[in-house]
Amino acid sequence: MPQPTARLVLATRNPGKLRELRELLRGQVPGLDVDTQVIDAAAAGVPDVPETGVTFEQNALLKAHAVAAATGLPAVADDSGLAVDVLGGAPGIFSARWAGRHGDDAANLELLLAQLGDISAEHRGAAFVCAAALALPDGGGTVERGELRGTLQEAPRGAGGFGYDPILQPAGLDRTCAELSSAEKNAISHRGQAFRALLPALIAALDDGAAGIS
Ligand code: IMP
Repeated sequence: MPQPTARLVLATRNPGKLRELRELLRGQVPGLDVDTQVIDAAAAGVPDVPETGVTFEQNALLKAHAVAAATGLPAVADDSGLAVDVLGGAPGIFSARWAGRHGDDAANLELLLAQLGDISAEHRGAAFVCAAALALPDGGGTVERGELRGTLQEAPRGAGGFGYDPILQPAGLDRTCAELSSAEKNAISHRGQAFRALLPALIAALDDGAAGIS
């Protein structure tokens, strides 16, 4: 069950994502205390939602709707991944399990680098993609997309971030995403863009008298 003051549930079990999304929302929604009123699916007692969609948008929406229905609160979900030009957009929605085991970042990155071994720099374009969805308990929903384009490096650089961050160098920068501070990354990232685009809908949902469950 949601905590007493919960007003918004993020359909994720990834503590890094909850942290990142709280920072994106901080100060953006009048009267919303992101640290206590924005909680994740585990805190809300909602089981994992299978990602059965075939696009980022479908997965984000189905997760958000499932969590909104289970909690009776507005719910936000994102689905994200890396789309590599020369692979026709793969790993795409399979990014988290590209090497077989869900969430094995090191194995995923190693496999992708091996697959691109013979590909020269000018053909190593790729984009991080994120769809961010808001679902309301009454069944309404909206979804926004963000993209961060860049070039895949031949070897990982940097210790920050997660996933494929050490190999994606955003266009116009000389550092990989793993060499950016989290504030620098949020300012340009696919997730930052998608969530900033979703903000007006979020503010409207939270202003609509959603005083929380008590
Ligand atoms: P999701 O949790 O289902 O959205 O899966 C996201 C997967 O895509 C992660 O496991 C990473 O492999 C990759 N990914 C998404 N966003 C990022 C990012 O900002 N940096 C690095 N990898 C990312």
